[in-house]
Amino acid sequence: MTNKLKYFIGNWKMFGDFSSIKIIYQLNKFCISHIKISKKNKIIICLPSTLIAHFKQKLKSKFISLGAQNCHHYPDSGSFTGSVSAAMLKNVGAEYIILGHSENRAEGETNKIIKEKIKISLSKNLNIIFCIGETANEKKYNKTFSILRKQINECIAKNFNTKKIMIAYEPVWSIGSNKIPKSDELSLIINFINKQLKKTFKNKIKPKVLYGGSVNSKNIKKFQLIEQIDGFLIGSASRSSKNFIDIIKNYYK
Ligand code: PEP
Repeated sequence: MTNKLKYFIGNWKMFGDFSSIKIIYQLNKFCISHIKISKKNKIIICLPSTLIAHFKQKLKSKFISLGAQNCHHYPDSGSFTGSVSAAMLKNVGAEYIILGHSENRAEGETNKIIKEKIKISLSKNLNIIFCIGETANEKKYNKTFSILRKQINECIAKNFNTKKIMIAYEPVWSIGSNKIPKSDELSLIINFINKQLKKTFKNKIKPKVLYGGSVNSKNIKKFQLIEQIDGFLIGSASRSSKNFIDIIKNYYK
């Protein structure tokens, strides 16, 4: 295992209320009592917008950072009923933001809009967790590489600050399905993404590459064997402190 920092990022989606902070308190307790492991990790919890300010006020942790899950592509304030801007999310305490999640792409979010969101979020000093991934159908017709290349090239401009961008490879067919990619296929895909990023960003620092899709405490060991993976974006398993902690524990077993 390398000494590179590993990222364990929770995506709570549309779940949680004020009482859910107990999940994060438990995680923090675990971090404090397992300093050796905690030094190797960065934990980020991406919350519904309604919880960020409250959790930011309550949580005093040097181990856990908070993030948001999406924003509008308009920079600051505007007539966009029901939306929040990157500036607003930053203002209430988000340090990270998930952008390009397939659940939002399914609602009509295009690469063009995602690129705008990344640009605006970077300008507000947010760190980006940019999701890419192929659908089951695209996989079936061997389009995985071309889809990933397109998503990378159309959403990230060469002049974006790569230090503040992470790529989360999330095959759409794997999200919430309990299906995960075969290890050899995943290795090839992560290598492909890395190559693509090196091509795009040349001499700049290459963005980290995460995996997301049905990660749990039972399958995490399989991913640990693929060293090029810099961390994980975890959906449903991140909403239970026990499941989240077991993922981290088992990763280091
Ligand atoms: C996600 O939606 O980002 C995700 C990884 O979900 P799950 O872990 O539930 O598959």
